[in-house]
Amino acid sequence: MKICIFGAGYVGLVAAACFAESGNNVIAVDVDEARVEGLKQGIVPIYEPGLKEMILRNQGEGRLSFTTDYAAAVQASLVNFIAVGTPPGEDGSADLKYVLGVAREIGRAMNGYKIIVDKSTVPVGTADRVRHAIREELDLRNADLEFDVVSNPEFLKEGAAIDDFMKPDRVVIGTDNVRTAEFMKELYEPFMRKNNRMIVMDIRSAEMSKYAANAMLATRISFMNQIAGLCECMGADVAAVREGIGSDSRIGYDFLFPGPGYGGSCFPKDVKALIRTGKECDYDFTLLKAVEEVNERQKQVLADKLIRALGSADENKPLEGRTIACWGLAFKPRTDDMREAPAITIIQSLLAAGARVRAHDPEAIDEARKIFGDAIDYSNNQYDILGDADALAIITDWNEYRNPDFDRIREALATPLIVDGRNLYKPSRMASAGFRYIPLGRNSNG
Ligand code: NAD
Repeated sequence: MKICIFGAGYVGLVAAACFAESGNNVIAVDVDEARVEGLKQGIVPIYEPGLKEMILRNQGEGRLSFTTDYAAAVQASLVNFIAVGTPPGEDGSADLKYVLGVAREIGRAMNGYKIIVDKSTVPVGTADRVRHAIREELDLRNADLEFDVVSNPEFLKEGAAIDDFMKPDRVVIGTDNVRTAEFMKELYEPFMRKNNRMIVMDIRSAEMSKYAANAMLATRISFMNQIAGLCECMGADVAAVREGIGSDSRIGYDFLFPGPGYGGSCFPKDVKALIRTGKECDYDFTLLKAVEEVNERQKQVLADKLIRALGSADENKPLEGRTIACWGLAFKPRTDDMREAPAITIIQSLLAAGARVRAHDPEAIDEARKIFGDAIDYSNNQYDILGDADALAIITDWNEYRNPDFDRIREALATPLIVDGRNLYKPSRMASAGFRYIPLGRNSNG
């Protein structure tokens, strides 16, 4: 099939590469000329395991190309995917200017029947607005062309995006047209080997499904972060509690880890957008407001623990003269994405408290530089930042932090203090290795 995908970001690039991998001819379109030029030369602008290899392979075999030329891409393709960003507007609602901008470009360029597939995360009712924008452009041209708009929200996770796309738990297709549903099923058929969960529904329910999924996951995170806080007060161990509740098949083990708060380009903005959607119809989504509030507070927890452990009596600059080494900047492992990463709030709080901050991340240092510039020090070696630091703070659970050389850490640090925002280590092991260890929601030995 001939497909074009608007937006060569995390979602667009993964979708483009995977659709090409299954034999389709794919054109990825982006407004960012430098990005497109780079991609033409094999420079992949984001880090996602396996993505670069898949792009280069399909580019080499002539199934995947990149362009800024909307019209040519629309005209060459039957299916037009919209995978551009939907950042939060000032009032928290999803800003649809990029989505509707693409819809207008499609309306201006289309030369025959097209299927327009919304893959961006968009509020309920957006398909109607996309349809309306295309229709307006067609009317301006006096063109009487047929088209269908489909909602096909994307559920991939950064860090495991290729696998999620190639072997999805489910594919949701929102359409009111049987012929289009069959067409979409055919397109996704090659990815249905592991799981045959192609769920066809009406468009509004498909649009809502994506927000409901992210809101549910964010709720689990905030819930577990509050359970962890209560465990600390009451002397319980959140890791044991997770086992205790996760074994219930109605609950399950996933997404029940406490941490420094959720971040990334999706959960914060999607939770906000759903609260905002509620407001539009006078529906007060009290639960999600609490989820968001808990998350904001949770992002302060690591810095608070460091201040309690090391802080002076100086209320304004309790960490003046202290150096904190941070492992992890990305909002989660296996990505370089720092959008809304808890590391941003944590490091800002440490700097505000007067600390010097040194940071390591396997992939996100370039992104962090755009945020912090020279306000912190960076290293590509996780041990190099430890020398004479007063504490090691663990922010992201990259695999390379799970079983590090503890002797080397203890010898390098000025004081053997680890504040662990991901509960990577056993408190008993840390005690016998000579560390003062402060995890989340479980016994701290310091
Ligand atoms: P991104 O910011 O990584 O990429 C968006 C791309 O769209 C950019 O390259 C930008 O230059 C391009 N763009 C903007 N306007 C354009 C236009 N008019 N024409 C062509 N290209 C244009 O965004 P992303 O993370 O890929 O997210 C895209 C959408 O998918 C969002 O709605 C997001 O909520 C949703 N989503 C993201 C993820 C994720 O993990 N990142 C997962 C599921 C769904």
